[in-house]
Amino acid sequence: MTEAADLLLTNAEVHTLARPDETHEAVAVRDGEIVRVGSAYELDFLAGVETRTVDLDGRVLLPGFVDAHTHLSMVGRALVHADLSGASGPAECASRLQARADEVAAGEFVLGFRYDESEWDESRYLTRDDLDDVDAAGPVVAFREDLHVAALDSTALDRLLPESPDRGVRRENGEPTGVVVGGALDSVYAAIEPDAAEMHELLTVAQAEANARGVTGVHDVVRGSRAPEVYRDLDREGELTLRVRLNYWSDHLDALVEAGLHTGHGTDMVEVGAIKTYTDGTIGGRTAKLSEPYDDAEGAGEWVVPPAEFRDILAAAEDAGFQVAAHAIGDVAVDAVLNAYASSGRGARHRVEHLELASDDAVARIADLDVVASVQPNFLKWGGDDGLYAARLGDRWTDANRFRALADAGATLAFGSDCMPLAPLYGVHQTVNAPVESQRLGVTEALRAYTLGAAYAGFDEGRLGTIEAGKRADLVALDRSPWAQPDAIADLDVAVTVVDGRLVYDDR
Ligand SMILES: [Zn+2]
Repeated sequence: MTEAADLLLTNAEVHTLARPDETHEAVAVRDGEIVRVGSAYELDFLAGVETRTVDLDGRVLLPGFVDAHTHLSMVGRALVHADLSGASGPAECASRLQARADEVAAGEFVLGFRYDESEWDESRYLTRDDLDDVDAAGPVVAFREDLHVAALDSTALDRLLPESPDRGVRRENGEPTGVVVGGALDSVYAAIEPDAAEMHELLTVAQAEANARGVTGVHDVVRGSRAPEVYRDLDREGELTLRVRLNYWSDHLDALVEAGLHTGHGTDMVEVGAIKTYTDGTIGGRTAKLSEPYDDAEGAGEWVVPPAEFRDILAAAEDAGFQVAAHAIGDVAVDAVLNAYASSGRGARHRVEHLELASDDAVARIADLDVVASVQPNFLKWGGDDGLYAARLGDRWTDANRFRALADAGATLAFGSDCMPLAPLYGVHQTVNAPVESQRLGVTEALRAYTLGAAYAGFDEGRLGTIEAGKRADLVALDRSPWAQPDAIADLDVAVTVVDGRLVYDDR
């Protein structure tokens, strides 16, 4: 006799994403593993007295979303501190920061996250003047959505950047404007780094948000933070409701080697992932490395980590058994990373993060070298001829985020959000409805990039990413079908999220 299931999800429109158009009605789960997929009638026989049966009432069941590029502590911060996303301009940012200032203890940092000036009529960075308007007893700092640009008020500038390094601290008539970019932000991040207790709060809030968005796994970028420890504690306590793959910043490499760790070590829930490094900056910050100058400024970007240094990091990481994930946005940076990867062994599955501008030649090489395109479909929100890309790049905006071209070349697309925002359906919506054909994917392809593709980027395609017997039961049920209304995918609601056979979110 067949053993009963622990969990039976039935009366659903199950899209396995394993084979095109394959659908079923029910999924049976035992010990966190999918044991059978089939018709509601067939799987009904696996319901025993102890089985939890979840009638999905015709909802669409998909593999859980794997977000291949996150900063979950930042999601937690935006939920706990001032969330500046969606603000109409500098004045509204200041008033949200004021509300936070009224909340915190005297002398504590007043922090805001996720401002995006590209959505404002007055499209400019926040400055010290904006922040000095906030009546606060402690320093005030506001971070742009991409985390590569921040604004500091006068108190924060005095306290955190008294020496005011030349690079990265913007000036006007010799005086700091409060705008700080790139590496100059390191001391700011160090000063506001949460302790273990605060990190526990941030990650608990963030994982709940992720589950509510249908996310069952993340590749989380960590640097000098308590996050890895807190994730492992949550795992041990049985309180982790997300699979976490830790992509460690390159300055952790020596310590990881000393601790005897390399890519793939860990538990079912928390794994050591890649070594993460930069090469260039961002298009928003006009620091991505371009072959032709920016349209709205002098210069063609700058290296954060120059190619020679990147090759050294790559060699050291490979020697130690690590996959590498390199941030490369401008076409020059993408080429530099691919040149370095070209000498790597096949099967290393190195990743390019963001990859916003790739030449035709680079697109072909990514597929050829079996390099993972770790890309963010939500970045297409900056497209269009009045968008951020057009402002920075002029006509070249149509060359950004060419997912169709990458897919056609045979590249593996691993979708992620970079938490701008953490919302897979919003990203899927952007690429399915992209204005330019070379950016546009079909619904199934886009969903596969956010499930199987992202799983592949983490060497997890054997256990995650599709709904098949033998895989872990990481699932998401949507209220309505993305195939039935491709122009409204961003509005679809997540009804249920299942991680390892546990219902971690239920909004029915
Ligand atoms: Zn990132």
